[in-house]
Amino acid sequence: MAEGPSPDLRDVKGQAAAKRALEIAAAGGHSVLMVGPPGSGKSMLAQRLPSLLPPMSEDEALASAALQGLAARSFDIASWGRRPVRSPHHTASAVALVGGGSPPRPGEISLAHGGVLFLDELPKFARSSLEALREPLESGRITISRAARQATFPARFQLVAAMNPCPCGWLGAPAGGRHRCRCTPDQIARYQGRISGPLLDRIDMQVEVQAAPAQQMLGHGDGDSSARVAQRVAGARERQLQRQGTVNADLAPAQIDAHCALDAAGREFAQRVATHMGWSGRSLHRVVKLARTIADLAGAAAIDAGHLGEAMQLRRGLPER
Ligand SMILES: [Zn+2]
Repeated sequence: MAEGPSPDLRDVKGQAAAKRALEIAAAGGHSVLMVGPPGSGKSMLAQRLPSLLPPMSEDEALASAALQGLAARSFDIASWGRRPVRSPHHTASAVALVGGGSPPRPGEISLAHGGVLFLDELPKFARSSLEALREPLESGRITISRAARQATFPARFQLVAAMNPCPCGWLGAPAGGRHRCRCTPDQIARYQGRISGPLLDRIDMQVEVQAAPAQQMLGHGDGDSSARVAQRVAGARERQLQRQGTVNADLAPAQIDAHCALDAAGREFAQRVATHMGWSGRSLHRVVKLARTIADLAGAAAIDAGHLGEAMQLRRGLPER
């Protein structure tokens, strides 16, 4: 089950905003949903998240090896210490995705423990599979009940998902351009509705990826290489581990006040935006943790208004017609 060498971020042309979002996701362990039209490179971007992450610690590697062994009844020593990357197809059964069977076996989400779970075309997964992601996204584990037996498996994965904004894919395309969305409001609502509010609530970042202009498709890639971004990510993670012993995404609600303090103006601003956007307390917690990661990437001790503003931009929800 060894993976080949991870593709490089520099292969993706343009998309500076999406690359920045991916760097923030890597730095704080945040889950991210990329939304954009066909051919915008959202899947290419998502596949490059693993290339930005540091290798696993000894403890993480042990837990991962145990789970791989439990699922496959074998463990390939060549993959020791490498962050697992799992990318199940949308036709995968709920049992294959979250685990189950008799006796209960871990599913893809547990095989991705300590690594990355990549779900392309998110709305095409079975509704029951998508809803089953809520528990592990919240708690980092999954409880499987079958008849009289119950099993709990670790499932602290980093979710990176991709989807089109609507069934045809062109919702939000610039007016007068080559493409135009032909979906009815009803079709769009049904399609986006497959990602339930409670699930969307638990995905830290929702990032729009713009259609790439034709001239951008030509020529070579640009921006920083994965190795360069990984260096900044490693620095930001080091700050988090020293401060609180975990990445920002895994901070428990009770730890947030201690480690992600906002000043009075920041608190007021956050409350105002949360009310305007109709965010739950959980959403607001996720925004504050994102802001903490942005501050860590900047090497800043305190979260300022700029960090908070950028974090809010990264949580826009799904595009509207
Ligand atoms: Zn459409």
